[in-house]
Amino acid sequence: MMPICSKCQKPAIAFIRYNGTHLCSDHFMLFVEKRVKKTIKKQGRIPQHTRIGVAASGGKDSLVTLRLLHTIFQKRPDVEIVVISVNEGIKGYRENSLKKVKKACSEWEIPYNEISFKDVFGWNMDEIQQVNNSPLGACSYCGVFRRHCLNIKAKEINISRLATGHNLDDMAQSILMNFVNADMKKLARLGPHEHIQPGLVPRMMPLRWIPEKENAIYALINNIDFYESMCPYSVNALRGTFKDVLYLLETKNPGTRHSILHSYDAIRESLRNQFPPAELKKCILCSEPTTQDVCQTCQLKEKVKQLMIKKS
Ligand code: SF4
Repeated sequence: MMPICSKCQKPAIAFIRYNGTHLCSDHFMLFVEKRVKKTIKKQGRIPQHTRIGVAASGGKDSLVTLRLLHTIFQKRPDVEIVVISVNEGIKGYRENSLKKVKKACSEWEIPYNEISFKDVFGWNMDEIQQVNNSPLGACSYCGVFRRHCLNIKAKEINISRLATGHNLDDMAQSILMNFVNADMKKLARLGPHEHIQPGLVPRMMPLRWIPEKENAIYALINNIDFYESMCPYSVNALRGTFKDVLYLLETKNPGTRHSILHSYDAIRESLRNQFPPAELKKCILCSEPTTQDVCQTCQLKEKVKQLMIKKS
C-alpha cells in the first residue's frame, strides 16, 4: 500500500528516516524550505539592498541552492540573486555543466556571470593538467584557483554574500575528516562566515542542514535540469571513504549526520576563540587577501609557469 503523508492524506513521495515521517510533495517542499530559511537567518541578517551571488557549477546542489534562494527572496525586491560560474576549462565536462546553469538562469530570469581560468591565469585546467606532477591531482590547483576566481568576480560585481551548495553530507564529511586529521585550525575555519574579513566575500551555506538525498528529491519535484557527470579529474579517494563510513553510520543510526553537525556547532565558538582567523594582508602580487606576503594562488601560478617552461 502506498504510504500516506504524515501531515495530510495525500500519497507520500518521501520517507524521512531520521524523523520517521512520510511526506507528500507539498509538505516535502515546505519541510526543505523552512529549514533553509532558518539556516539563512542563523547565518546573519540580510540587510536591505543586498546582492547575493550563487556559485553555480550546474550540479544538483548548486542549482537547488539557486532555486531556493530565488524562491525565498522573491518577496524581497531589494535582494538580488545573481549567479557566478567558474569555467576552469575542462573539455567535455565544464561547458556541458555550464549549459545547465545558463538554462536555469534564463528560465528563472537570474543574471549569469562567468569567469574563466583562461582569462584570469592564461591557462585552462586541461593545460595545467598536462604539466601537473602533484600527487594530490588536479584539485590541489583547481580548488585554490576556483576560490580566487569566485572572490574577484564577486567583488567586481558588488556581491556582499556568496552562497555555495554545500549540503549536510558535505558538512558531516568535512567535520569528520578534520577531526580524524586533527586539523583543528581548518575545522575552526569551516564556513559559513559570520565574521567579515577585509577583501574576502563571506560565504553562506543555505543547504547546510539538508541531506544530499533531499536535495535530489527537491530537484526532481521542481524539474530542475542539473548536470550529473563527475569531473574527470576528481580523485578524492579519502573523502569517498568518509562518505562510505557516514552512509553506514546513517543507515544503522539515522540522524548521525545531524548529530555531527550539531556537535560541531556546539564547539564552534570555542574552537574559533582558540584558533582565531589569521590577520589578512594584501598579496604583494595580486592584492587579494592572504596571510603571507604572496598568496597561495600566486605561488601556484608561479609553479605552473615553471612547469610549463620546463616542459617546453
Ligand atoms: Fe576542479 Fe577538482 Fe572540482 Fe574537478 S573535482 S572541478 S579538478 S576542484
